[in-house]
Amino acid sequence: GIMPDTVQPDSVLELDNARVTRALFRSLGNSPQAFNVFSLEQPIIITIDGPAGTGKSSVARHLAARLGLDFLDTGAMYRAAALIAIRQRIAITDHEPLVAAVERADIRFDWSMDPPGVLAFGETLGDRIRKPDVTAIVSPVAGIPGLRRLMVQRQRHIASLHPRLVTEGRDQGSVVFPDAKVKFYLDATPEERARRRAAQLSAAGMSADEPRLLREIIERDRSDMSRADGPLVCPEGAVVIDTSAMTIERVIDELEARVRAKAREP
Ligand code: C5P
Repeated sequence: GIMPDTVQPDSVLELDNARVTRALFRSLGNSPQAFNVFSLEQPIIITIDGPAGTGKSSVARHLAARLGLDFLDTGAMYRAAALIAIRQRIAITDHEPLVAAVERADIRFDWSMDPPGVLAFGETLGDRIRKPDVTAIVSPVAGIPGLRRLMVQRQRHIASLHPRLVTEGRDQGSVVFPDAKVKFYLDATPEERARRRAAQLSAAGMSADEPRLLREIIERDRSDMSRADGPLVCPEGAVVIDTSAMTIERVIDELEARVRAKAREP
């Protein structure tokens, strides 16, 4: 058949494009190698970590598209957890009920969307997870050890179904995938990150108070870096890129070149 990979029963929503592409190439008798530096058969995990506002998500998404890999936005999973707390009116200090609710929500992605959309209780959450009320509490929610355990488990499970993956977050290279083939750590000055965020908001027709954004960014960094469990750190062996003076395009070029160089190594 054209789908020789084992499809696990709960993976219906997680049939990834890469797998479908592989199957298609096989059925056409084409050599996937001709289309890509990597063998389309070869699993490869690329991690991108760093603070908010470095362009991580956008870079990760475009890099994945250029390399024909799937893209995982792990921040969306923590944002979904924060939204569950808001909707079910669970105090973020009530760890056990919150972790139980998140477990019931069975957070996953709809891989037929581009970028894949996060689902909780089978419902697409869309842009709701980007709203200020979610952003305000996501970092303390992400500091709950039981919740992190759940997410790490979930992310590894996703990677087992999507073994050719660009994954983006705070702990992907340090905790979740320490053996990733290529690890990146993106950084930028807080001022530049606040400026980018303000530009994004105005482009979306929203008002942007830049000094306030700067304060929020500094506070979220502090909170993400100081938690005991899965803090934001530069993973061992990561390529560090300061994006302050770079366009998104240049950052993507740089990462792509490094991944292709790495893939040529024995
Ligand atoms: O990347 P994004 O801003 O969407 O992430 C939202 C929050 O989720 C981060 O501030 C961080 O607290 C948390 N997060 C995390 N670990 C990850 C990804 C995100 O703790 N791997």
